[in-house]
Amino acid sequence: MKFLVQKFGGTSLISQELREKVADRIIASKEEGYMPVVVVSAIGREGEPYATDSLLGLARQAFRNVPQRELDLLMSCGEIISGVILAAILQAKGHQCVFLTGAQAGIVTDASYGEARILKVKPQTTIKHAQEGKIVVVAGFQGMTEDGEVTTLGRGGSDTSAAALGVALDAVYVDIYTDVEGIMTADPRIVEEARPLDSITYDEICHLAHEGAKVVHPRAVEIASQKNIPLRVRSTFSNGPGTLVTSSSEVYRGAIDITRDRIITGITQISGISQFNVAMASGADGLKGQARLFRGVALAGISVDFVNVLPEKLLFTVKDEAVNTTVKVLENIDFKPKIMHGCAKVSCVGAAMTGVPGVIADIVEALAKEDIQILQCNDSHTTVWVLVKREDMEKAVRALHRQFL
Ligand code: ADP
Ligand code: ASP
Ligand code: MG
Repeated sequence: MKFLVQKFGGTSLISQELREKVADRIIASKEEGYMPVVVVSAIGREGEPYATDSLLGLARQAFRNVPQRELDLLMSCGEIISGVILAAILQAKGHQCVFLTGAQAGIVTDASYGEARILKVKPQTTIKHAQEGKIVVVAGFQGMTEDGEVTTLGRGGSDTSAAALGVALDAVYVDIYTDVEGIMTADPRIVEEARPLDSITYDEICHLAHEGAKVVHPRAVEIASQKNIPLRVRSTFSNGPGTLVTSSSEVYRGAIDITRDRIITGITQISGISQFNVAMASGADGLKGQARLFRGVALAGISVDFVNVLPEKLLFTVKDEAVNTTVKVLENIDFKPKIMHGCAKVSCVGAAMTGVPGVIADIVEALAKEDIQILQCNDSHTTVWVLVKREDMEKAVRALHRQFL
């Protein structure tokens, strides 16, 4: 059976008119000879009655600290509502259809409520329904532990459900339908000139997604890449081809027409981070101090980023919500950090930048021209990150986009 997993995001399901359009798209793929397995997100974004954020808001109105287990149960309702509605529309259009919760679709997770990891997918029920000719609609973003506890997969996690089902069913494609033409050179909400990419490697989109491009969940890309299932990120609102996400071996074998002359593939950004600057003693005391500091922070479960270890000081960033705990941890082990609040990380990602001289020079010049102060800079073989003040973030993304894209 030629399975095609089609995932529809919240904005693609926001009105009856759009839901009809989505249903027609599913039916069209069936008529093309595919067996569609559909994954849905909750309807709409914040403000819409059945959106995930609205359900969370409702619970928090009642009690600020609702346990995560109960929040997962509540959040899972959003995808159940949209799936049942879409299945009803498909039925009304004369197509046999069945709706499955994540658990019914065999998505087994660990018990990390709110951020659960998929351990395995048991696809038998989905396959059985498909063999009976039914379109299977599955609630995204949710699974169940072996003990029968409902879990959710982290915000944006319907993409992950789609990729996991794609792997389990050995799908021809996993199509992620959303409200933009595909994966773009930057977030179109920030850069008006951003344009959709024809194709991108798993590695590149994984880096972009980890660094803030929330067009597709990074875990979805990691899962699809393990079995080389091609992902296509496409628009629900047009018939454009979207962006094909595939392996670099496909790209370099020349199987796909991809222009590899771009040094940078995309620019992305994350705000809500703060920079810590901690002075260190010189000599052996300094070395012991460094080790003590990073061990202390690690034992407190704080994730640090943008780490620069210099003989006289340490620089690192944490998410804003971790600032208070980090300060307490450091004070307890006798460090007095200087903190720069309100920072943002801007990342330039491109698999082709490895070994190319001048990339950093271009970045620094482009930002200097706009009077943007770089607070820190790091690089790897595919990414250059700069830390800037939050108020410079949009300007920095636009300047770098002009420079490279
Ligand atoms: P969905 O509800 O369909 O899952 P998301 O809001 O999760 O949609 O993701 C789509 C959004 O991602 C777009 O509306 C866009 O603003 C944002 N986005 C951020 N970076 C990029 C990028 N590089 N390319 C495309 N979209 C991006
Ligand atoms: N509805 C969930 C969220 O808003 C999952 C998703 O949209 O992918 O995070
Ligand atoms: Mg999403």
